[in-house]
Amino acid sequence: MTFHAKFSGYADPALHAAGLYIGGKWQRGSGITVLDPSTGNLLVEVSDASIEDAQRAVDAADAAAAGWRATPARQRSEILRRWYQLMTQHAEELATLIALENGKALADARGEVAYAAEFFRWYAEEATRIPGEFRHTPSGSHNILVDHEPIGIAVLITPWNFPAAMATRKIGPALAAGCTVILKPASETPLTAYAMARLGEEAGVPPGVVNVLTTSNPGGITNAMLADPRVRKLSFTGSTGVGRVLLAEAAKSVVSCSMELGGNAPFIVFDDADLEAALDGAMIAKMRNAGEACTAANRFYVQAGIHDAFVAGLTARMKSLKLGPGYDPETQCGPMITQNAVRKIDRLVSEALAAGARATTGGKPLTENGYFYPPTVLENVPVNASIAREEIFGPVAPVYKFESDDEAIRLANNTEYGLAAYIYSRDLKRAMKVGKRIETGMLGINRGLMSDPAAPFGGVKQSGLGREGGVTGILEFMEPKYYAVDY
Ligand code: NAP
Repeated sequence: MTFHAKFSGYADPALHAAGLYIGGKWQRGSGITVLDPSTGNLLVEVSDASIEDAQRAVDAADAAAAGWRATPARQRSEILRRWYQLMTQHAEELATLIALENGKALADARGEVAYAAEFFRWYAEEATRIPGEFRHTPSGSHNILVDHEPIGIAVLITPWNFPAAMATRKIGPALAAGCTVILKPASETPLTAYAMARLGEEAGVPPGVVNVLTTSNPGGITNAMLADPRVRKLSFTGSTGVGRVLLAEAAKSVVSCSMELGGNAPFIVFDDADLEAALDGAMIAKMRNAGEACTAANRFYVQAGIHDAFVAGLTARMKSLKLGPGYDPETQCGPMITQNAVRKIDRLVSEALAAGARATTGGKPLTENGYFYPPTVLENVPVNASIAREEIFGPVAPVYKFESDDEAIRLANNTEYGLAAYIYSRDLKRAMKVGKRIETGMLGINRGLMSDPAAPFGGVKQSGLGREGGVTGILEFMEPKYYAVDY
């Protein structure tokens, strides 16, 4: 069986090689190679957008803007709802495609499709509930009326680790708010974005409302779009380094920015925690997407009394995971996205081992084909090792021992990031008291998974600006307009 015969329908990479999607038309091309990370083999090539293509995408988004803004909220809502239904109907094909180009295990890919589709369902509902406000001024001089208007054309830039969910978390609220968009997916995983654009067409999204570009020149293209006065919003998910560059670029045209950036989540286990529950939570917080998640537990701080039992339990669970290509249904831990990702993990682990850490399982990259790194647990890691400061983005769990609550809080906050944190304790009062002192945008208490379309997702410190999801997510794509009214 040929590769393409094996993956049919939306799961067939060749279907999406039609390339750029601008103004409702597909523009075939080549130039960007999409690889299978489990073998390093070529899956397919997709179009490489030029600056002129990006300008055409802004033209298309502009041509569609007035019509979409004027489309009744109920109608926008129904289109999003149909898109949700189509994603659900084609969930297995989308999950296979994600597993193919990203490498994550099918179970994770299925979870991502369900999560991604939920953003369309949630924002189909929110589209019809855009809030306004009426107040009296304290002085009694006049009345304050606040309306919310769509902000304008939005450029959406997404990473490779959640190729479906990072796109729907932006497209859903943008379309619900009445904005038209240009999506630039990551070069490693463009096929899922193109597959979803096809489903959007089928759902009745009018031409030009959603445009999709892949490019080998993300900086040039984004700068050109940000310099166009018709573009009023940049919503970016990716690394803090690129986020800083984009904030500086957006400042030149005073473009509104939402930034979902890197993380370095602490996972704190107190002596009084339910050990089995903490281990279950640790496996989810660490191993969803093989550790390639911004919310991934990056530092395990475990209190002295439970430390050895936690390390033994985590080691047994990590050791038992089956490695393989994401699209093999038996796989529990897929490959990393690139060889460079494996090199980075190897550097962090090697430095920790050289500084005195001990690997209770794993600890060395695998030498076979594909970009694999084995599930690894490290104990006795120095608290100032580079692995404690940098995002690992892989299946490696460094464990650190602590004694007191104050020490756990100090260690947890000893990072420039502040996206996610986890606490395990049977004493909810203690967990809430500690949680209040942790510098983070999101906190899981006795839970290893916090993402939910109905909740505000985002970070503090160098982890970003703004929130996606929840009731606030739609306001990131709207401007409040104040009417001072006297009658
Ligand atoms: P990345 O290198 O920052 O890339 C993210 C996106 O930005 C890709 O589409 C990339 O395009 C594009 N890009 C790169 N340089 C650019 C430039 N100069 N101008 C415009 N766009 C540019 O991040 P990544 O390695 O894909 O993703 C991993 C990072 O994302 C991690 O730090 C992770 O924590 C973070 N993340 C955060 C969240 C969150 O919600 N906070 C969620 C997921 C991931 P190319 O692919 O073409 O280079």
